[in-house]
Amino acid sequence: MAARLIDGKAIAASVRAEVREKAAELAARTGVRPGLTVVLVGDDPASRVYVRNKGKAADEAGFVSRQIDLPADTKEPELLEVVARLNADPSVHGILVQLPLPKHIDAKKVIEAIDPRKDVDGLHPVNAGLLFTGGAGFIPCTPYGILRMLDHEKVELKGKHAVVVGRSNLVGKPAAMLLLSRHATVTICHSRTEDLPSVVRTGDVVVAAVGRGGMIRGSWIKPGAVVIDVGMNRDAAGKLCGDVAFEEARQTAGAITPVPGGVGPMTIAMLLQNTCEAALRALS
Ligand code: NDP
Repeated sequence: MAARLIDGKAIAASVRAEVREKAAELAARTGVRPGLTVVLVGDDPASRVYVRNKGKAADEAGFVSRQIDLPADTKEPELLEVVARLNADPSVHGILVQLPLPKHIDAKKVIEAIDPRKDVDGLHPVNAGLLFTGGAGFIPCTPYGILRMLDHEKVELKGKHAVVVGRSNLVGKPAAMLLLSRHATVTICHSRTEDLPSVVRTGDVVVAAVGRGGMIRGSWIKPGAVVIDVGMNRDAAGKLCGDVAFEEARQTAGAITPVPGGVGPMTIAMLLQNTCEAALRALS
């Protein structure tokens, strides 16, 4: 039997409706609307689309949404100055510097310059540390969205084996920490993992965050497993595809996220959720 499809679009829509309601309540009570500022350096076409979508979503949620466009040759100190200005602006509750940054700018330094209380991307070391130690920081939007989807689908994590393929600070590592916090037994795989197919085959839950179209084959999936595909790749025909060979994997998996329409929409929804939370915290 083919796997159940996990509809990220629908789950994201419900999160966004919830956030919109919370933001309206906050505005009615305090006169303050959550403020999100997205900084875009350069004109990478993919980044431009992401930033536009984030701005649109923030508008729809009733936020004050701003975008700062800087030229590709912006010097690092100039960008740091922009971040410092946003840190000091009480109407800005969330700051997002769109990655990747041009090579001459040290992204780590820029992320570390963001006030952790406004780091709605959850990438500042303080927030990463809070996730590691079980504190209430901001969780990176994509892994946070994954957890939300699993919760929505009532996937039992306690005692289950979760296999995360990919160990980036953006997705793999925080996803693993979140699954661990829910008492899953977690294995993190990466490019040096030996016999990856055998490891993936032991996963009751598989999170694929690799960036290689269709790399995870259907024969690697344990029957009934829940498969979360984070990958956003282009196939030979230029079509968007995930890291999992979807048509194969859906024959074996119990549930699976499609690409597009799976994890992608959740990322934006959780950005709104984090920004609304940042505004609430700033006012309490
Ligand atoms: P990174 O490139 O930062 O990390 C990729 C990870 O995959 C690394 O840990 C790397 O291992 C591992 N890897 C690479 N090749 C292999 C291999 N052959 N076998 C096993 N592991 C391998 O990517 P991100 O984490 O930022 O993103 C992953 C994917 O998710 C991309 O397709 C990206 O576009 C997508 N994405 C989607 C989002 C969404 O909203 N849907 C948001 C963010 C990302 P090593 O560390 O050893 O190099």
